[in-house]
Amino acid sequence: MIGLLGGTFDPVHCGHLDVARAARVRLPLEKVLLIPSRTPPHRHAPRAGAADRLAMVRAAIANEPGLEASTIELDAAGPSYTSATLDRFAAAGVDTHTLCFIAGADAFAEIPTWHQYPELLDRCHFAVVSRPGLPAERLRTQLPRLASRMISVNENQAYTTPSQASIFLIDASTAPVSSTDVRARIARGASVEGLVPDAVAAYIDAHRLYQPEAHGH
Ligand code: ATP
Ligand code: MG
Repeated sequence: MIGLLGGTFDPVHCGHLDVARAARVRLPLEKVLLIPSRTPPHRHAPRAGAADRLAMVRAAIANEPGLEASTIELDAAGPSYTSATLDRFAAAGVDTHTLCFIAGADAFAEIPTWHQYPELLDRCHFAVVSRPGLPAERLRTQLPRLASRMISVNENQAYTTPSQASIFLIDASTAPVSSTDVRARIARGASVEGLVPDAVAAYIDAHRLYQPEAHGH
């Protein structure tokens, strides 16, 4: 399987890398593609432009074997629906049942609002990774109708790619950080050391991203 981690990545941070690594270690994934979204369907427009968000993802994973950046959503017109992304993989000859869409527990809890729900769930595998304070296991009670497809992924257990489209639940430790935090800290001049990879912090500095709008001299 190939993992797909979609996100705004505005900017990419250490929590995102922890999610990608946890999925890669716990599931039989050859690699994980980080896919910056173009116009996120469920939210406000990103603060940083597409080119900067992509450049930060590339900088973040430069030394990470098994993680790659994909421009499949940035290259397409229109909003970045997961279903449309699967269509694009299918059009490129990929069997979408070899794909595993990865989401944090906060994002996956919203899946009933996603485009082409519930058919979407039959098109590929999903992996849900816990977010600090949000255990992946909680999805069983939050989304009881989907509980029968959920597979709890335990450490030290080997998983093979199931034939039925499944929802893997992964409880893992991920950095307690969000892009919203990172943007707010930069805007007030606070450090983001340890919250984003050093190469991303350097990029943000060099390109003066996320600075407060008005700056009297
Ligand atoms: P924002 O605050 O702007 O929403 P974010 O930190 O949530 O940013 P996104 O780009 O929205 O980042 O997230 C992309 C994916 O990564 C989502 O599925 C989200 O749930 C997941 N994710 C982000 N940060 C974490 C984290 N610290 N732990 C687990 N999952 C995370
Ligand atoms: Mg988010």
